Amino acid sequence: MQKYLNLIDGEWLPAKSGAVFQNINPADRREVVSEFPQSDAEDTARAIEAAQRAFPSWSATTSVARGRILGKVSQILESRKSELAELLTREEGKTLAESTGEVQRSADIFRFFSGISYTLGGQTIPHDLPNNLLYTSRHPLGVVGLITPWNFPIAIPAWKLAPALVAGNCVVIKPASAAPALTHEIAKALIEAGLPKGALNIITGPGSTAGAELATNRAVAALSFTGSQKVGATIYTQLAGRMARAQMEMGGKNPTIVLGDADLDLAVNLVVRAGFGLTGQACTATSRVIVEKSVLEPFLEKLAAKATALKVGNGLTQGIDMGPAVSQQQLDGNLKYVADAIQEGATLVTGGSALTEGDLAHGYFMQPTVLSNVTPEMRIASEEVFGPVLAVLSVDGFDEAIRLANSVNVGLSASIVTKDLKKAMLYADRIEAGVVKVNQISTGLALQAPFGGVKGSSTDSFKEQGPGAVEFYSRLKTVYLDYSS
Ligand code: NAD
Repeated sequence: MQKYLNLIDGEWLPAKSGAVFQNINPADRREVVSEFPQSDAEDTARAIEAAQRAFPSWSATTSVARGRILGKVSQILESRKSELAELLTREEGKTLAESTGEVQRSADIFRFFSGISYTLGGQTIPHDLPNNLLYTSRHPLGVVGLITPWNFPIAIPAWKLAPALVAGNCVVIKPASAAPALTHEIAKALIEAGLPKGALNIITGPGSTAGAELATNRAVAALSFTGSQKVGATIYTQLAGRMARAQMEMGGKNPTIVLGDADLDLAVNLVVRAGFGLTGQACTATSRVIVEKSVLEPFLEKLAAKATALKVGNGLTQGIDMGPAVSQQQLDGNLKYVADAIQEGATLVTGGSALTEGDLAHGYFMQPTVLSNVTPEMRIASEEVFGPVLAVLSVDGFDEAIRLANSVNVGLSASIVTKDLKKAMLYADRIEAGVVKVNQISTGLALQAPFGGVKGSSTDSFKEQGPGAVEFYSRLKTVYLDYSS
């Protein structure tokens, strides 16, 4: 078992109370993977003070100097890729291939923002008068709070930390309690790469105390949160009360639309990867499949065959396609959604049960599940399950498909499978989603492109990822300079 401590002012410290919590391997409850301080609001307040103290000198460095540190972090993470991927799988449960991809992605994110450090400036603007200079300059905000979920435990901390730090902010981050270890591993890499003390601080513990302090403490200038809608809405209200900058990225109910002209093998392949990959525990996972009635029957047949063939098990074992749910609570929630949907009239096509044979009895495993005859008023048609459960709804045609896709109050990612270019373009225009895919899986993002949801999935004022990610973490000043006299 690995023991981790809070990082405050460059020191690794226990919670003031001395309390700890432990994380177990979701694929094998017998293994305790890691231990962390159970911090409270007072611990977080100390971390915020440390970040405040570090801000004057860290923000006085150049973005290029900060970018050099990020570049080294990228190399360190890449050199430790297999070890970190294994830790990620043992803590969160996803397969080793998925974890390895996520660690590589995180190294790439640091490399990207290292390069971006050379571009972080303002703009010169033509003035109305001669011999006048009008320009903007970019400045960090101060202390920035980051609150992250457990499902991408290294990529999401990376895609928030890299732009926050390169812009010159000092950070306090609170990772989710189900998988905090990789945030600490990023911190170790940052320290090794030369990050000065206090520029990054880490607190672990309950969101309602250790996390809430980041939302309510007046010294925190901005807070970037990724997690559930319920928690995001609470934090947003707290930040609005003191006019602090807010970025809330939350859940979805992502559709993949399968039109009558689609290559059905491609459609099934995309839906299986987007619905069951990462055990369905991705914010961009497909959870609704909206299928034209003309191809419903053959589509369901192929989908059931492919879902049933997936190998479920410990993500460290070679050949496993799908790992466990992250926790007993998540597994129970998934199974309850399935049971409720059947009670409301949905048909169970395949799956629907926990897997408890042999070694699987020690983990939180369930079958990849497909439900058909789902109708829009059922809970499963509008609420995020966050598990390997696909709800299939049928429609008469394209317009009804778009209407149904847009009928929920969230809009994160969407995909359509079709050979009809006109319909693909009309869909891209009309679909209410931040990420719009055509003949691609609804999961999977390019780190160099903007990312964020619309409607209830996001506060939708700043995008994450891509060069524009630094906008949230910086502000512009407009400078007017007259040299005419
Ligand atoms: P969660 O909302 O339960 O927790 C997220 C974080 O908030 C955790 O660190 C938690 O400790 C903290 N928290 C909880 N209560 C708090 C409070 N009152 N004040 C401050 N912090 C608090 O979410 P989760 O279960 O960790 O993650 C799953 C959710 O995240 C899903 O809804 C998923 O769709 C969403 N998600 C969204 C994206 C995206 O980019 N849009 C990406 C990944 C996950």
